[in-house]
Amino acid sequence: MVNILNGKDYYKILGVSKDANRNEVKKAYRKLARKYHPDANPNNKEAEEKFKKVSEAYEVLSDEKKRKEYDEASRMFGQGGHGGFRPTGFEDIFATGAGFSDVFDIFTQGRTTKRPEKGRDLYYNIRLSFFDAIRGVATKINVSRENICYQCGGSGARQGTSPKMCPTCKGKGVISQNQGFFSINHPCETCLSKGVVIDSPCLTCRGTGRATETKPLTIKIPAGVNNDSKIKIKNKGEAGISGGPPGDLFIITKVDSHPLFKRKKSDIYLDLPLSFSEAVLGTTVKIPTIDGFISLKIPPRTQNGKILRIKDKGAPKLGGEGRGDMYIVVNIVIPDKLNEKEESLIKELSDFNEGEKIRKDVFKSGEQR
Ligand SMILES: [Zn+2]
Ligand SMILES: [Zn+2]
Repeated sequence: MVNILNGKDYYKILGVSKDANRNEVKKAYRKLARKYHPDANPNNKEAEEKFKKVSEAYEVLSDEKKRKEYDEASRMFGQGGHGGFRPTGFEDIFATGAGFSDVFDIFTQGRTTKRPEKGRDLYYNIRLSFFDAIRGVATKINVSRENICYQCGGSGARQGTSPKMCPTCKGKGVISQNQGFFSINHPCETCLSKGVVIDSPCLTCRGTGRATETKPLTIKIPAGVNNDSKIKIKNKGEAGISGGPPGDLFIITKVDSHPLFKRKKSDIYLDLPLSFSEAVLGTTVKIPTIDGFISLKIPPRTQNGKILRIKDKGAPKLGGEGRGDMYIVVNIVIPDKLNEKEESLIKELSDFNEGEKIRKDVFKSGEQR
């Protein structure tokens, strides 16, 4: 009988023959680990001890290098019974518990299973010119988002290694503490309730299993967006948690103002300067619209501040059909310089004493006290 490392015969513990292949070892371990796992045997010291032994045996026999060392050690020290054998990197069986991922399914059926969660939504502000917002535009943006680490596939463990069962909570993610009649569960601080620990973290994600990557993304801004429009791009947010769906990406638009056109939702406003005589006599003016210049008839006796509407000359309606309207706001401009001819004509006009007539009508009610 082999008698090393305190008399432990790993082959016997797992119930396999000395020439058992990797698969047979794994199969035997799975069966025993399931049988003796602490989750299946609460408060059972005997089962816990067995589980430790089984894990330790598997730790060694599943690893080609450690198994070779072990076989050699048993040949050398086997008869004497004093364990000179210590597998490489062997500290504590629960800390190492190699092959944990092989039986991961056993543990994840327990309390450590995290419910799948949708990834976080992302928000991205984009600046648009006045006309890009009206006409729509395709543009490339660089989005930084947290994704599942491409290097380790999300496990957080360095290539060629696997996460191991947490030695503190034995994979449960919580520590039970008996206090009189109660037993209180604390989240495990060693593994932060994950149930697993990582000895050699992935170099890319440092063990988090998630990595921020910046990727260019071509997005289509629809025609008619305005300040603070929200465009949803499905599934382009952060990666989901525990197999959950990814979040969404929201593009928030910030639209530059225009020196002439003002937008109110899908309507466009334009100030139209008119001279006094144009307003009085009426005229036809050329005005800019978002589609180019058009002619607009100004009726005679147009008052200052009057708003003229041109139907369907506004911005496209976002997510709807049709367009807004255009509103022309009349602004009668008083000249600050007059030539002699103008001055004399205006004086002639003032002889009609129009101002007094207007005020008399407006202030009529003021006389009744
Ligand atoms: Zn833990
Ligand atoms: Zn990684």
